[in-house]
Amino acid sequence: MTIEAMDKAYVLPTYARNYDAHFVRGENAMLYDAEGNDYVDFGSGIAVCSVGHGNPRLAEAICDQAKKLIHTSNLYLIEPQARLAKRLAELSGMDVRTFFANSGAEANEGAIKIARRYGTDDEGNVKRYKIITLEHSFHGRTITALKATGQEAMHTYFGPFPDGFVYARDIEHIYDLIDDHTVAVMIELVQGEGGVQPMERSAVQKLAAALKERDILLIVDEVQTGIYRTGEVLASNLYEITPDVVTLAKGLGGGVPIGAIMTTLKEILKPGDHGSTFGGNFLSTRAALEVLEILESHKTSGELDHMMLLFEERLKEIARIYDRLFDKEVGVGFMRGLRVKEGFDAGEIVKAAFDERVVVLKAGRNTVRFLPVLTMTKEEMALGFQRFIAALDRL
Ligand SMILES: *Cc1c(COP(=O)(O)O)cnc(C)c1O
Repeated sequence: MTIEAMDKAYVLPTYARNYDAHFVRGENAMLYDAEGNDYVDFGSGIAVCSVGHGNPRLAEAICDQAKKLIHTSNLYLIEPQARLAKRLAELSGMDVRTFFANSGAEANEGAIKIARRYGTDDEGNVKRYKIITLEHSFHGRTITALKATGQEAMHTYFGPFPDGFVYARDIEHIYDLIDDHTVAVMIELVQGEGGVQPMERSAVQKLAAALKERDILLIVDEVQTGIYRTGEVLASNLYEITPDVVTLAKGLGGGVPIGAIMTTLKEILKPGDHGSTFGGNFLSTRAALEVLEILESHKTSGELDHMMLLFEERLKEIARIYDRLFDKEVGVGFMRGLRVKEGFDAGEIVKAAFDERVVVLKAGRNTVRFLPVLTMTKEEMALGFQRFIAALDRL
């Protein structure tokens, strides 16, 4: 039985999987299939492989930790968990404590629980419970995170959902939806799945101040934007805001599953209020510590900002030259997109690129999305764009 046949027979078909290549190994921004063909990865496993594939330092840290201890449960002290929480507070400059989960959706679930707890008095009486999110947002696939996601098409089959989620068309519309029951606003600073849409900086800063004044929590979903994806540790650092809650996941573990909820509400949860069996174990937190160390020096050396600038310039040039296909270039840092013109399909461009052996992604609002590994080299970038252009020339 072939692996493809096994996959088709035994794995639940929830993904529109691409069976054209079967990747077996990687090296930084390069992926290699079973036949030995190389691909340039401008997707990094959907913003996850932040330090590239096969990173020797990350591999060494994981191996070393695996030989010592992988897991003991949260009943006992976990050294790398404590160190990681400290590092996240230092690097972000936020006065926070962190809870560790295993995924983005799970981190958002925890953030929503924090908001609900904030809206409930100590006797358990619900005072405020509504959470405002944005249209075109994406917050995850669990029932509550799905309901928080402002895309009605994703709510068709799985109801009934928890109450209390309201969707704003854009940041300005949030003010119209606030009422006496509103406890929190949850947003992405750059919408990812919804089509690489950065929020306007001044509008975000104004919102943060207005919410603070009304004692409404600001939750920023940084599952995709966090961990240097936009050039700073957090997109919140880039926007110069201090949210009450920040969630992380994708890039944090370099591929090892981990989620995190950072909050300035350091006393909000008591023993027993929340928990996770796997969350924050030795393996995932040790991996994340190594990822942060690698990326911090990549940032400090100036290399990250330099590469992000080159990438942006190249993409803008492509948008200009191929204006028959693209309206414009969008995004921030290494979270970029090309908005595809009416009459063309982003999916077709993604497929043509794959045929030329460069991996790019599709996002909502007909966008070709680029989420390169943060440690990409100039040579890898040049090869990736050379192949992408070859694909565009065939369309
Ligand atoms: C990917 C993503 C999630 C969901 O993360 P999972 O790890 O798949 O649960 C949530 N929010 C944002 C902004 C994301 O990009």
